[in-house]
Amino acid sequence: MSKTFLKAEEQVIANSLKIRFYPIAVQSAKGTRITGQNGTEYLDLTAGWAVAGIGYGHPRVSSKLKEQYESLSFTSQLSAPEPTMVSLAEKLIKITPGDFPKKVWLGHSGSDANDCIAKLVPLAKNRTRMISFMGSYHGQTMGSLSLSGHPAQSQFIGSGNVVKIPYPNPYRPPFGETDRLTDQVLQFLEQEVFKTICPPEHTAGIIIEGIQSDGGLIVPPENFLPRLEMLCRRYEISLIFDEVKVGLGRTGKWFSFDHYDVVPDAVVLGKSLGGGLPISAVVAKKEILDVGTGIHMFTTSGNPVCSVASLETLQIIEDERLIENARVNGEYFLKELEKLQEKYEWIGDVRGKGLAIGVELVEDRFTKTPAAEKTAAICYRCFELGLLVFYVGINSNVIEITPPLTISKEEIDLAISILDQSFSDLQEQKINMDLVKQYAGW
Ligand code: PMP
Repeated sequence: MSKTFLKAEEQVIANSLKIRFYPIAVQSAKGTRITGQNGTEYLDLTAGWAVAGIGYGHPRVSSKLKEQYESLSFTSQLSAPEPTMVSLAEKLIKITPGDFPKKVWLGHSGSDANDCIAKLVPLAKNRTRMISFMGSYHGQTMGSLSLSGHPAQSQFIGSGNVVKIPYPNPYRPPFGETDRLTDQVLQFLEQEVFKTICPPEHTAGIIIEGIQSDGGLIVPPENFLPRLEMLCRRYEISLIFDEVKVGLGRTGKWFSFDHYDVVPDAVVLGKSLGGGLPISAVVAKKEILDVGTGIHMFTTSGNPVCSVASLETLQIIEDERLIENARVNGEYFLKELEKLQEKYEWIGDVRGKGLAIGVELVEDRFTKTPAAEKTAAICYRCFELGLLVFYVGINSNVIEITPPLTISKEEIDLAISILDQSFSDLQEQKINMDLVKQYAGW
């Protein structure tokens, strides 16, 4: 069954829609687990690319969905609103910091929400240019890919108004010094970028991921985001946080920037926002989102079914104390991974906040040569042993750990033992590299 299904999928589903799928046909998913059609169960450390924040198939979301669909399946909220969309917007405004009038825009994906930023921020500021970071992933539509600095998007011709600067990566400092990382990146921005190709008076906004996820799960130095905020205020540039992957509790606070007491002008949300349903949001200063009428709207934006799923998801995060769980179990996970780092030389760096964790693999700790093949091998072996993990990073050498926020200590112990086994198998050359290559799509 599984093989026939995979063949059929290969024939009819566009390659442009997918990358390196696990060779399994998924039958069902519940909580932190995914079950294949052959009955094998996997502990999912990816949460389906950070979508299943509250876990898969939450019964509370399921019953709300049924209720909502049967009472009002759809109304075009754009012309005739009903209450769920409004309640959702009120809730999002309540959890987003900032003592100024805010509004909410609603869409379907991280990409369309970042397109909202790409269109509306320059318009609202009456300035044409934007700044983003090398390695950033903001989406695949034209506006969001223009904002992105990830290799996945750089092959496309996007809008030319976005200048990319280096992300402050403490493990691989772009200007050579970890101690002076913040100073050096911001000096580059002020002394080079502002004085040459992107003057501050033409710069509408700077968009940043508080932890750069697809770029390699990179945590900036403690002083970087507060200093970036100060710089934005000085030049009256909007500061936008893309929280699509790391927002909504994953880092142990509602938002990644909450760790630093920074208040952005706009926050972009997606992925886990809908508990598995497609919904995204921008929560921003009123003057940004009110800059024009009907200039960034989609027919099914804010539909009641997705809105109700989102409202319930946010309530579950609070009721089940998932932010606290992410903080406490995230710390535990990180400590256990540090123990693995002591055991295996290939683990060059372990980093993260809450349940957004990266494990960077290198050929040796001195040269820090990225070990992409070994990273793929570990992910593949984990899959064989019942654990789903992906790799990210511009060098494809960072194991990304973003499980559902519901993950328990016992499940973390299980994950650690499978990772340990995989590293040991790699050391003993017990992993079938031909299968790894097939799996990784090389
Ligand atoms: N922003 C970030 C930070 C992301 O990680 C992603 C997806 N990886 C996106 C935006 C794009 O989201 P979507 O795939 O829902 O369009």
